[in-house]
Amino acid sequence: MRVWGKRSSIAALTALVAPMAILLPTAAHAAAGGHKPPAPCSAGFVALTFDDGPSRTVTPGLVKILLEKKVPATFFMIGSRIKTAPGAGRLVQNSGFKIGNHTWDHPQLPQQSDAAIMHEMRSTAREMRADHLVPSNLMRPPYGAINARVRHDMRELHLVPVLWTIDSRDWAGGNSAQIAGRILGALRPHQQNIVLQHDGVNNSPASVGAVPEVVRVARHHGYCFTHLDEHGAMAHVDGPAPTPPVPPTPTIPSPTPAPSARTWVPRTQPSIDTSGALQVIDSWLAAPVLEEQYRTETSFRVLFGSPSGLVVPRS
Ligand SMILES: [Zn+2]
Repeated sequence: MRVWGKRSSIAALTALVAPMAILLPTAAHAAAGGHKPPAPCSAGFVALTFDDGPSRTVTPGLVKILLEKKVPATFFMIGSRIKTAPGAGRLVQNSGFKIGNHTWDHPQLPQQSDAAIMHEMRSTAREMRADHLVPSNLMRPPYGAINARVRHDMRELHLVPVLWTIDSRDWAGGNSAQIAGRILGALRPHQQNIVLQHDGVNNSPASVGAVPEVVRVARHHGYCFTHLDEHGAMAHVDGPAPTPPVPPTPTIPSPTPAPSARTWVPRTQPSIDTSGALQVIDSWLAAPVLEEQYRTETSFRVLFGSPSGLVVPRS
């Protein structure tokens, strides 16, 4: 049995006026004469991605903002940084966000040997598993540097490369308003709006500070936020609104035991969307769910086929 929650009111959006003079190219905006906000998602979608973390000081605050705003995101983590930010990776995962591979120490992959490339990706995946993270199949090559050989090596490990369409250039400097302006000014209706930001560079606090403004203004102009699918594309370009991660409990959880093979786990919390990465935290499931909608199941059980594969029988 399914229970669909009510869509949240868009009334709050109508009261929002961007302080920045950013003209977003939405047909609905132009047609509305600037007074009536366009309908939610009428301009299409945006997917946020954050690279170079996790960071002990930056990532938790970013997660909090994303949960508050109900915005999905993908975190491309550097393997060697996972241990330097205890709990931050698990906070990302336990909050329902997707995790991707961003190499062990951020080299230009095309300049590496095949063995080194494989090591960069494998050691990162191994470190994630050691930290009880369940990475997705998505991988972002540092600097977006990729060639046929790197692609081949990634395929060997069943990893899918993900680049971006909008570079916030947060690493190059700028305050939060400037970074938000760069992102908002680059949004294109009904296109792949995959935004690159960082939660592990010097200017990351300013970049994180840009997120509320990006979310507020983009929504005001008819954009919704979505996650990346297993092909590294926006899960939605047009169509119904997707869901944000439904935060279980937005606190840093205690270490989660690795799920053992073929263990039945009772569901004790609502919120599941099989289009996102399913993760088991203690005795419940976390996954990105559809924006402004909640879908709950009265009961289901989870069967682990492997650490990266799940079966979710409903009853
Ligand atoms: Zn990077």
